[in-house]
Amino acid sequence: MDRYKSILLFGAPGAGKGTQGKVLGTIPGFYHCACGDVFRNLNIKSELGSIFYEYSSRGELVPDEVTVKMWAENIKAHAVIGDYKPSKDLLLLDGIPRTIEQAKLMDDYINVLSVVHLTCNDEEEMIERLRRRALKSNRHDDADTKVIRHRWEVYERETAPVLQHYPKEMVVDIDSLNSPAQVLHDILDHVVPAQNTHFANFVDD
Ligand code: ADP
Repeated sequence: MDRYKSILLFGAPGAGKGTQGKVLGTIPGFYHCACGDVFRNLNIKSELGSIFYEYSSRGELVPDEVTVKMWAENIKAHAVIGDYKPSKDLLLLDGIPRTIEQAKLMDDYINVLSVVHLTCNDEEEMIERLRRRALKSNRHDDADTKVIRHRWEVYERETAPVLQHYPKEMVVDIDSLNSPAQVLHDILDHVVPAQNTHFANFVDD
């Protein structure tokens, strides 16, 4: 199997990966896959759904093997259905991999073209963003400040080191505290050349 050509959207909770990924995912030639959304779409009564609830409500990560297996099955299903076309679409991965172990497991599936690192040096602003998101989107894991802070610690400990798994020249830092339009502009600046290099520019209606 050809590995899926991918861009990783990387950054702490609240950095705006989801906001940017959703916008980019509406452009033909991009496919946005948010791991947290895949988990949230599970039936909470299913075995995997209850595992997700158990971990996420504590602000913990779901175990690596379960996560990557679920992700791989989900993306394959989208390729079969045809809303994701691996030969035409650049895959934008949001929220996965989140540990070094996940990054290693995923090397079998993805060909990472570049890593977009949404940086933020203002923890309080991030926490405020997550609190606002909780009010809007009914997320159980954003409602409690203690859980939010814990997710930040988990990010620093488990996820930030994933950046070292990829060659330095592959990683681009983008300041996530700028306006959403500016951040989008900066991401496109970086991602469009990667897309042009690796994909013929088909336009399908
Ligand atoms: P955020 O980006 O704000 O942390 P997500 O929607 O990406 O939110 O994730 C919500 C929860 O889903 C996480 O706290 C975690 O429990 C679980 N989760 C999502 N992606 C992963 C992953 N790659 N590995 C393990 N757990 C994950």
